[in-house]
Amino acid sequence: MQNRAIDVHCHFFNLSFAFAEVLEIGWRWIQGDYPYKSDKRGLPIVIIPPELWKLAHYVASYFAAATESPEEHYAYEERCCLKSQWHLSELLITVPLMMDIFFMFDHGDTEAQKAVIPALPDVRQRDALNVMTITEDNANTFNKLAQIIKAEFIPVYEKSISARGLAPTWTAKNRTAISRDLDLVIVDFKAGDAAEGVRTMAKSCTQTNVQMTRGYRQHLLELQNLQRDNPGTVLPFLAVDPRRVGIEKLVREQVVEGTFKGVKLYPPLGYLPTHPNLYPVYRLCVEHNLPVTVHTSTGGLLSLCDTIKTQSQKKNGKIVPVTFDKKTSQSAALFFSNPANWLEILENPEFSELHLNFAHFGGEEHISTLANQKPGKLDDPKNWTGQIIGLMKRFKNVYADISYCPNNEMLKYIRNIVARYKIVQKRLMFGSDYIMVMKESTLCGNLDNYFNLYTDIYPEMLTVNPAAFLG
Ligand SMILES: [Zn+2]
Repeated sequence: MQNRAIDVHCHFFNLSFAFAEVLEIGWRWIQGDYPYKSDKRGLPIVIIPPELWKLAHYVASYFAAATESPEEHYAYEERCCLKSQWHLSELLITVPLMMDIFFMFDHGDTEAQKAVIPALPDVRQRDALNVMTITEDNANTFNKLAQIIKAEFIPVYEKSISARGLAPTWTAKNRTAISRDLDLVIVDFKAGDAAEGVRTMAKSCTQTNVQMTRGYRQHLLELQNLQRDNPGTVLPFLAVDPRRVGIEKLVREQVVEGTFKGVKLYPPLGYLPTHPNLYPVYRLCVEHNLPVTVHTSTGGLLSLCDTIKTQSQKKNGKIVPVTFDKKTSQSAALFFSNPANWLEILENPEFSELHLNFAHFGGEEHISTLANQKPGKLDDPKNWTGQIIGLMKRFKNVYADISYCPNNEMLKYIRNIVARYKIVQKRLMFGSDYIMVMKESTLCGNLDNYFNLYTDIYPEMLTVNPAAFLG
């Protein structure tokens, strides 16, 4: 792998995945089971809460560039790379990162419910966690909900596509095709345990005690299959959210013993890297030399809650309650994605050798600010790119990737930064953030254009650095 080119940050998920998760959130919500199963039952709800519209709207616009199957997304990336000015003689190695959006509406006030669920010892527990059955009695409500969310998704998708002016070379599906895709998700949802994905998953080791929402499970299976068909060039990362019941077990099955290569974290969806449930995951990662990639920019998908109750575990093991309040912290990104949040983990001798990739290198804004700083001027301690470089100097396995930077100044910025901080040449990695980056109109709907921006990147950023990060 040492000399092969690697895209250490891409995604092969799609709009169907997002739709399935939003549908699951909505269906659980109106029954009082979001994010965890509850015994409390109010009056049967027939009114769809307005928050669900907001969620559907936000998610549909975010995932609008992603309409194809994971196989097609993967094949498209390889085609574009071959066509690009990189002139590779071998296929690109891709690292598709999963995403877990199920908790983006979780305020954290039902944490106690979660603690109760794993005590149930039998198959009913799996059902409570995973299957929100649609019965004859509630089928009408479900159909109504599904149609409302679908009706929200389609126009948002169409508007996003035309607003961004994606060129016809990028497959923008029409209304009929998208509608058909979403209908398939609805059919699968109703099929419950009889659906293909669920049956396959039941055959694998994940049968009990792990909360598997439909979109998450489906995408996990798709990446398993893609990896199986392309073992040398697809190295998927499992999305880990500490609020998902049984997440340590899932990491053990899918990453330690399974086909997934590493772990992906996305804190701005509402948790800190110091969440107590992540400690067992870090322990597995250190023990088995597994890499972790964490979203680190001020952009991206954010939790939709104005306040979130969560927890943080300190180096000394003490667990403290933490409350996020949008009014005082501006945004979930600034609060949860700050690289300084990682000091408690990396300064813990148990985890100081964790292979950690700060995805996006703090984000384009922080990168350009640092790169354009006058020589001799003291670096701003609040600059995230500068903070990450500080961590690279202190910890031997800290890396960063420059994904989602479709800017033709970026190579100049990287050279400026390397001139001042030599270590960056050994720790920075190439990442595309395909398919998310396709939303950028500067690419004109062609991923080749992204590769071409980085033709003259330091070769080690494409090869040696990611190989070392991935172990
Ligand atoms: Zn990404």
